[in-house]
Amino acid sequence: MTEGKADCTVAVIGAGAAGALTAARLLDATDRALRVVLIDPDRATARGVAYSTPDGRHLLNVPAAGMSALPDEADDFVNWLHEHVDANIKSSTFVARARYGDYLADHLAASARRSSARLVRRHDRVVAVDHTTGRQVVLRFDSGETLAADAAVLATGTSPGVAWAPPGLLTSDRFVRDPWVPGVLDGLPDTDVLLVGTGLTMVDVVLAADRPSRPLHAVSRHGVVPAVHRSEKTPPVPAPAELAEADSLDSLRSTLRRHVAQTVRRTGDWRAAIDGLRPITAQVWKRLSDSDKQEFLRNDARAWDAHRHRMAPVTAERLAAVRESGRLCQHTGEVVAAEDTGDAIRVLLSDGTAMTVGAVVNCTGPVGDASADPLLASLLACGLARAGSAGLGLDTADDGRILGATGRLAPLWTLGALRRGSLWESTAMPEIRTQAADVATGVAAYLSRPAVRAHSSRLAAPHELMIGDRGDDAATLLDKRLTRRPSPLDVRRRNALATHPGIAVDHTA
Ligand SMILES: Cc1cc2nc3c(=O)[nH]c(=O)nc-3n(C[C@H](O)[C@H](O)[C@H](O)COP(=O)(O)OP(=O)(O)OC[C@H]3O[C@@H](n4cnc5c(N)ncnc54)[C@H](O)[C@@H]3O)c2cc1C
Repeated sequence: MTEGKADCTVAVIGAGAAGALTAARLLDATDRALRVVLIDPDRATARGVAYSTPDGRHLLNVPAAGMSALPDEADDFVNWLHEHVDANIKSSTFVARARYGDYLADHLAASARRSSARLVRRHDRVVAVDHTTGRQVVLRFDSGETLAADAAVLATGTSPGVAWAPPGLLTSDRFVRDPWVPGVLDGLPDTDVLLVGTGLTMVDVVLAADRPSRPLHAVSRHGVVPAVHRSEKTPPVPAPAELAEADSLDSLRSTLRRHVAQTVRRTGDWRAAIDGLRPITAQVWKRLSDSDKQEFLRNDARAWDAHRHRMAPVTAERLAAVRESGRLCQHTGEVVAAEDTGDAIRVLLSDGTAMTVGAVVNCTGPVGDASADPLLASLLACGLARAGSAGLGLDTADDGRILGATGRLAPLWTLGALRRGSLWESTAMPEIRTQAADVATGVAAYLSRPAVRAHSSRLAAPHELMIGDRGDDAATLLDKRLTRRPSPLDVRRRNALATHPGIAVDHTA
């Protein structure tokens, strides 16, 4: 482990699954004195929106075998489950999402222990990134502090969008904009509640909010709910070459229909056809014109998501039980008007249904508009980034480097949902783990350029915390480091921990 001042600093903005994996791959990739600063206002590391839920009924929507953090070691998550949770868990099991957050946090901590680079966790929100002077980027925090970094990675995911909500809803306290805010569903009233959106978020909210005294209503424009995985997965059937070569939405639709029909004839399972598209999805998306992409988003995306992002069989059984009990009623339409009457909200749907509910929950999923996020808006405004294809996320190069206005290139990378414009499918872990490795390779190659190596970092970061194995327990990782190689700096940090248990102030910054 190298101590002392780092040659270079890489800032990873967002400590959810994507940020944690990027930090892990950066720590693995480097052979030099690098400092990786992992930034997120949340206390938790490696959980983000998806893996923070403590509700054991919230399961992964991918079997354990598909959730390894490492693209080339498919068994890594299953082995971890056997060691830490239950030796009998099968690779086909859909485990609780909370367990996956534990796994990712362990995965990151293991990379930190192995690495010659240093990992620092910082709790703050980045509100702007500046690249006007010199080679470095300067991150501005909510707290008013700044951090200069040689490269930065945006791993901020996306937040739920509310563009669909009529004004009467946006101003109401009875509107739950983000169902993932911890504890927010606990405050729902014991009366009718309307869920807007019928995808995987709606399913999670139904499982968490179902009470005998609380009738639930779910509405979406298409009324499409996610399809269900089979308990025994049919191996993916590779897509025919003509699908990868389709250059219009019409030809794509007809070729896909044929491919699905042939697959059903051969295997009896349409899922094998959809799963077989995974390796070529980005290629197919890139070949479409912008107007075809827009049309796909308007007319096909819902059906695609419902078939591509499926729920676990046990989750489907639980949803069916709520439906059969009569406590979940589904509508097809849009919310066209809403009025908060003080003790309820009156809602009008586009099919003419009027209902009075105690709360409305936004279940439209993480589809927020990039320009609604202050950090992304500032990047777009100053030209360090430009909108992605079809208005989705940010435009990126193949390794995730952010492309600015008029081709401007700052040392900025991104991954995950912000790459949807470039790749379309870019939100699930199998995509994110590969992207994290690609970003780390791209950043490492950039940092190894002689001009960058010669430029040492000057940092302003007085309140940084060392990361721990779970829940940011600063002492845990430090103790593991100490058993390997104590240094005078370790001793100073240990003393700081003794005075402030759980918090190690990084004085080296
Ligand atoms: C409910 C749900 C369930 C899912 N289940 C699965 C599944 O089973 N399998 C699967 O493969 N995929 C699943 N997904 C897809 C999921 O998107 C990815 O697996 C992954 O969790 C995305 O992680 P992320 O780090 O990109 O985003 P996020 O989890 O959204 O994390 C982004 C982090 O960035 C932080 N942040 C945002 N802005 C800033 C800022 N300006 N400064 C500092 N920090 C910032 C946020 O606080 C947050 O912690 C699920 C998604 C959801 C929403």
